Amino acid sequence: MKKKLFLFDLDSTITKKEILPEIAGQVQMSQQMKELTERAMRGEIPFLQSFSERVDLLKEIPVPTVRSIISQIPLNEELVEFIKENRENCYVVTGNLDVWICDLMESIGLKDHYYCSKGRTDETGEWLLGIDEIIDKGRTIRSFPHPFVAVGDGNNDAEMIGLADVGIGFGGVRPIATALLNNATHAVYTEEKLCQLLRQL
Ligand SMILES: [Mg+2]
Repeated sequence: MKKKLFLFDLDSTITKKEILPEIAGQVQMSQQMKELTERAMRGEIPFLQSFSERVDLLKEIPVPTVRSIISQIPLNEELVEFIKENRENCYVVTGNLDVWICDLMESIGLKDHYYCSKGRTDETGEWLLGIDEIIDKGRTIRSFPHPFVAVGDGNNDAEMIGLADVGIGFGGVRPIATALLNNATHAVYTEEKLCQLLRQL
């Protein structure tokens, strides 16, 4: 039988915190960031618009600093173990910028196994100049061969979950978005249950 692929959202699925708000916390922009993030999670402003606005807020932080902040964010370690053991079949699909998350992806064993938005830096790599491309999660997901399993928590994962053969809503870090729940085949609320389920598939 063909081996199943596993696709994961990053923020609040693999990480125990939302990445952009965590970065914002380091530069006293938590409040603006929180507002934009919450509104996007609730589906009140389009994800693309809110993502651009959130990235704009963070442009004044050097890219290496952002990477270092991201490296301090706690992860769901049991899930990371599963990913490392099954790395050939695992992929992350996230709106985050490549220049920010590349180190994290390498550290969880998914170098070259992730799809994300693309940032443009100056020639030193120190400063983010802008966004070259914001990932279209739906289009990315459609390019994956079936069967695949998808795991996510947010409004912008709803399409991915709906397209998956097994679509799992994960509520271990924050509440699962309603739009996602409506498309899910499973909902789990602890990391332990999530990993049990993934190992059975
Ligand atoms: Mg998420």
